[in-house]
Amino acid sequence: MDKKNNIIDTVTGIGAGYAVYRYAPNPMFQLRMKLSKKYLDTPLSDSEISAFKQIGNDLFEQRFKPLGYNLVDVARPENFGYGTKQLEELTKAYDDYIAASKNFIQRAYRKYLKNYYVRDYKLTDSAVLQGTNAYYAGKSKTFVLNMDKKPVYLFHEMGHAINAQNPLLKEVSSVYKNPIVRKFWLTAILATSLLTNKKTKEELEQSNNPFAKVNQFVKKNCGILAGLLLLPAVAEECLANVQGQKLAQSIVPKEMMKRVTKTHLHSAIGYVLGAVFAGLAMYLANFVRDKIVHKN
Ligand SMILES: [Zn+2]
Repeated sequence: MDKKNNIIDTVTGIGAGYAVYRYAPNPMFQLRMKLSKKYLDTPLSDSEISAFKQIGNDLFEQRFKPLGYNLVDVARPENFGYGTKQLEELTKAYDDYIAASKNFIQRAYRKYLKNYYVRDYKLTDSAVLQGTNAYYAGKSKTFVLNMDKKPVYLFHEMGHAINAQNPLLKEVSSVYKNPIVRKFWLTAILATSLLTNKKTKEELEQSNNPFAKVNQFVKKNCGILAGLLLLPAVAEECLANVQGQKLAQSIVPKEMMKRVTKTHLHSAIGYVLGAVFAGLAMYLANFVRDKIVHKN
């Protein structure tokens, strides 16, 4: 009877932990969006838009165009349908890549990547059109944004271009931007935490499992480990804000700099909180699981 109850508690604990991990970040994320819409990411006035547009276009013409960079302003008629065309190219490239697979594992892996990137691109594209996001495509050295809505985002994207000139940063971000690498490690941390029982020092010493100590370490530090996993990406984003801020300072009139600073703060806080929320969700998942499994 006791053993049966134990199993029920363990299964319930694991399920509850997983649910917490899965759903806890949503309200945290919504609260953050609400606050930043109120204080940091407020809409630009028409005069601010035209001033930033002018400054941004000039900066691009002088500093980036001569080095082979491109600027795609999706608000311009000649760029209408740019996202759709990009999506078609992306889909075709992945279909070719999938067709060239040598075995079913490779095929499954590439299909996963395709689905991930197609979904991601669709979301990004609609956000760019609405002016709530912008991006820098490193391979084609292209800045893509809506200059009629949020021209102020150009500085941050230019910051990414400057980051990409640093080979070490480029390497780090390419590894960490791989969704499978990230997902694999997050899943490994989550599974280890939820499937491992909390052990005392004596219990650990007596354990025959060669991984007991590692598992216990992962479980104990699951929140920090999950947050750390996002650290390189957060660092790269924050650095793009720093570089963007520096670029703007050299060209934007003083009274308009407040706007730029707010935009960069909004971005930096968003990425830092993203990592904190990921860590917190992991910590809470393990906490709830242990509360249910270890009732004493
Ligand atoms: Zn960015």
